[in-house]
Amino acid sequence: MSVSHFSPRDPGPARDPLALAPEDCGRGHACQFCPQEETCGLEKGHHEKRLIESRLAGIGQIIMVMANKGGVGKSTVSANLAAGLAARGYRVGVADADIHGPNQSRFFGCVGERVRLGEQGLAPRAFAADGIAHPLRVGSLAFMMERDDTPIVWRDAYKHDFMHHLIGSFDWGPLDFLVIDMPPGTGNELITLADLLEGHDVAALLATTPQEVALMDSLKAVRFCQERQLPLLGVVENMAGVTCPHCGGEFHLFPRAHLAAALAEVEVDSLAQIPLSPALASGSDRGQPIVLAAPEGPEAQAFAPVVEACVAHARQGFAEAAAHSLQALASEAGDALEAALAQAPAEQRDELEAQLADLLNDAPRPPDPDAATR
Ligand code: ADP
Repeated sequence: MSVSHFSPRDPGPARDPLALAPEDCGRGHACQFCPQEETCGLEKGHHEKRLIESRLAGIGQIIMVMANKGGVGKSTVSANLAAGLAARGYRVGVADADIHGPNQSRFFGCVGERVRLGEQGLAPRAFAADGIAHPLRVGSLAFMMERDDTPIVWRDAYKHDFMHHLIGSFDWGPLDFLVIDMPPGTGNELITLADLLEGHDVAALLATTPQEVALMDSLKAVRFCQERQLPLLGVVENMAGVTCPHCGGEFHLFPRAHLAAALAEVEVDSLAQIPLSPALASGSDRGQPIVLAAPEGPEAQAFAPVVEACVAHARQGFAEAAAHSLQALASEAGDALEAALAQAPAEQRDELEAQLADLLNDAPRPPDPDAATR
């Protein structure tokens, strides 16, 4: 599988930072990392913009995993979604944008590791495991800190810069999916990233627990997606039930009736209910996402519809893009044929015109996005 599987965009030369533009310095990382930053006379804004675009050009589908509240399992959902996509054979990256509590290094077993800066930028950490053909590529602020327990206090301007670093400075390489573990909330970081990714194939998932407090917060994220016209694939209900380790009985810690009603009101699907599970938590702590460690287990099965929804969305996007391209090709060919028609002898023109119309009518058309709602 490769980016071309999902993205009609060419992931080749465009993503090579060294080929960005003749006037660029050719370095594949943001200016803030550059030893020559102070003396460099080049236009930094342009360099950064082109760098980010070159990274994004190699990425098929971006999934933002959002939550409006910390501790609801957003990072857990991100890690297991990424692992589930990798288990399906896709090339997957995980961008840990949770700048207040970057956890992905723990979830993928690379706590304490640091990344090196090369001419192509920062190399993400590779996570290999049985059952995945392409190692996952993990990029996190945690790899750039001096120590893992360094407290991080952010001014807004730095948050903005970091979001640009995360996408632009890491050498993501060609990916089918980039899963972004968002910071909780609908603040500056989310807006910065949404702006940065505009025009690319981005969809959102919302992680929540069934409790009312988390739910009320989550609905703010629903509104954010609606206002930004960011496709929201659905909600992942985390800690949605418990299996008693003694009797095997299942029960719900939090009532979910009001969650179902609230989601119905805002017309958002619940994609999955992930149980509260000690195996899930300990898999995360050991750096082995449960969907890979126990692919047949109930947790992996609970995550499966989330993986499916992302794959289905990406496939639909690809099919629409392909249909648009075919339609464009068909009308280009149509223009050329009409020009040829004008040259044809007058007595044959009617018949040729009828044949041309038949041909163009047979060309595939992009799917009608409103058809499903009719
Ligand atoms: P967030 O990213 O929303 O802050 P995390 O994914 O970091 O939340 O989860 C917070 C803690 O809860 C972690 O220790 C994680 O292992 C644990 N956790 C998350 N979801 C579950 C679950 N379904 N079952 C058991 N533990 C969970």
